[in-house]
Amino acid sequence: MSSTLDFDIRLSERPRSAAEREAILADPGWGRHFTDHMITIRYAAGKGWHDARLEPYGPIALDPASQVLHYSQELFEGLKAYRQADGSIATFRPYANAARMNRSAQRMAMPEIPEELFVRSLELLVSTDRDWVPTRAGHSLYLRPFMFATTRALGVNSPADEYLFVVIASPSGDYYAKGIKPVSVWLSQDYTRAAPGGTGQAKTGGNYAASFAGQAQAVAHGCDQVVWLDAIEHRWVEEVGSMNLVFVYGSGADARLLTPALTGTLLPGITRDSLLKLAPDLGIPAEEGKISIDEWQAGCESGEITEVFGCGTAAVISPVGSVKAADRSWTIGDGEPGPISMRLREELIGIQYGSRPDPYGWVHKIC
Ligand SMILES: *Cc1c(COP(=O)(O)O)cnc(C)c1O
Repeated sequence: MSSTLDFDIRLSERPRSAAEREAILADPGWGRHFTDHMITIRYAAGKGWHDARLEPYGPIALDPASQVLHYSQELFEGLKAYRQADGSIATFRPYANAARMNRSAQRMAMPEIPEELFVRSLELLVSTDRDWVPTRAGHSLYLRPFMFATTRALGVNSPADEYLFVVIASPSGDYYAKGIKPVSVWLSQDYTRAAPGGTGQAKTGGNYAASFAGQAQAVAHGCDQVVWLDAIEHRWVEEVGSMNLVFVYGSGADARLLTPALTGTLLPGITRDSLLKLAPDLGIPAEEGKISIDEWQAGCESGEITEVFGCGTAAVISPVGSVKAADRSWTIGDGEPGPISMRLREELIGIQYGSRPDPYGWVHKIC
């Protein structure tokens, strides 16, 4: 029933002028500007998904007792719309985001949204605000679907029974317009991001709320990002900031990839998953496994580990140049972006922007 919901279209009476929009698109930054419209869909127990709208972007009125404000029942997704060489617009693996949102929903005791409805929401917002999809190389329109509990109740004995699903869109610039600069990372041995049985594999705001102190500590130690270790032994490498980590062993024709396995405390990144499929087709074997901080340091010192990078939708591939912890520090390779990282980055971006063939069916045309 709900997957055939019709959207009530309420166009903005005061959309930005072409000149205002172009001024923003000339230097959009990241996550600072939003398009003229948004999607909202309501959910109520017994009624299901209803009241689907495309409406002007703007504030949402919430009762102060809304459950999300007290107990953080929230989840989100992130993906991009890319301007293709022929002027059309496509997204990348939107059904993978829909499926992940529903897995997050199961963990957070929230309702699942039909995948078709999720993807139609993206299509409607992007096609309405298509002039906001940048045409500059490396720029894109970042899409942020999210859902939260709106039930007015302070009781904590049960999940909420009313929710709001929203999609907003934000033009984003080229993360690396000024050239690719490897990040320095801090090994967090005081804080953990996720524990077994917790919410580490769900894309929920609470994971981020719990990570800001660790990120602040990384910055206080002069590093760009924080590396999260496992919660029990503080030894096994999990993620970097809000990206998955990939280790490159060897070089040239002998290069291979290792990424920490999805143990339940890692977020299953779609970029990570795409690289696990793409790399072997480029002759770079890729496996999931386990790596400790001692193995990471020893591998860099022996030269066995040649490159390390973080991967995620926003930056695609972000090389890691150096590692610091309370009791040690080391450099990865010569501290510069490595050839395997850069090749994978170019190949994946090529598929996303349509300049390389997509044998996987990942590219989803919108308009
Ligand atoms: C979203 C996210 C990622 C990356 O996922 P992608 O689907 O590749 O963008 C990795 N780690 C965390 C903690 C995340 O929230």
